[in-house]
Amino acid sequence: MRRLVFGVCAMVLANGAALAQEQDWSIVLHGGAGVIERGDMDAETEAAYRDALDAAIRLGGDMLADGASAMDVVEAVVHTLEDDPKFNSGVGAVFTAEGRNELDASIMRGSDMQAGAVSGVTTVRHPISLARAVLENSPHVMLQSPGAEAFAADQGLELVDNSYFFTERRWASMVRAVRRMGLSVPPRPEGAPEPEPIREGALDLMEREHAFGTVGVVARDQSGEVVAGTSTGGTTAKRWGRVGDSPIIGAGTYATPACGVSATGTGEYFIRLNVAARICTQLEMLGEEGGQQAADAVIQDALTAMGGDGGVVMLGHGEPIWSFNTPGMYRASWTPGDEPVVSIYGDED
Ligand code: ASP
Repeated sequence: MRRLVFGVCAMVLANGAALAQEQDWSIVLHGGAGVIERGDMDAETEAAYRDALDAAIRLGGDMLADGASAMDVVEAVVHTLEDDPKFNSGVGAVFTAEGRNELDASIMRGSDMQAGAVSGVTTVRHPISLARAVLENSPHVMLQSPGAEAFAADQGLELVDNSYFFTERRWASMVRAVRRMGLSVPPRPEGAPEPEPIREGALDLMEREHAFGTVGVVARDQSGEVVAGTSTGGTTAKRWGRVGDSPIIGAGTYATPACGVSATGTGEYFIRLNVAARICTQLEMLGEEGGQQAADAVIQDALTAMGGDGGVVMLGHGEPIWSFNTPGMYRASWTPGDEPVVSIYGDED
């Protein structure tokens, strides 16, 4: 009998240890931040965002639980968001004032601090995959278009016509913006679908969202590897080859062995504050428990003081954290043993 009890206990302990080890992963993501307030969104739109965030976080969490690498998870989850027209990345990206979609993305791995980034790409279906290819298969960290596109072709990545990214609501939002700027409306891109009516309410929401909708994912896999990735169309009606923070390592994306950050907001501020790297440096100074404090010091204090708006998602020693100074941020997180958290407004968890 004693042998049996001992045997059962040993099995339980062994399983417990295996479980604890197996389940040591975490993931956090965002789909942009801005003036997203209760009452701005009809129930159907809100449900569509929550469903998309929920599906994305579950995809990532399930992959991590199955033992996938953080790099594969970040790429796969960003793909689903790049393919979702609700977000400002891939399909559904915002337009430049010249009427094109110019996409930026970056990815960074914490253990060896390797990084890859691309800016201004117009024909790569999944810019995050191109950023990963730069990290893994090039001697460089950052490529800009058109060279980035040539590299994408060499790498056998999926190329599409620029009109593939077209959505009516982003087009209409750019048209509104260029008119306000006193510029002429660019010609509708060749290959774009026939014009369709847009609900004014949807346009207003997009503007209050600050035309954000950039996507970012930070994952820590069972081996402890941290990877952060960000993908965006940038800002509506951007001009002159403008590049924001999203493809800039240290500004929009950063990872160290203990820290991963992806940002969203007005890139001009995030670049000057070096937001993502600054948060990881703060975390290093504050120690293991300092994740929320580190993120808040940079977002609530430094960014706000400078007049910038936006937010970050972060894994600090594996703990999912977010901080934003806008009324809302599309966001989600998941750690083993808990249900996924999906939130939009500032007064939610
Ligand atoms: N940070 C992005 C940029 O400035 C925009 C965003 O996050 O919405 O390009």
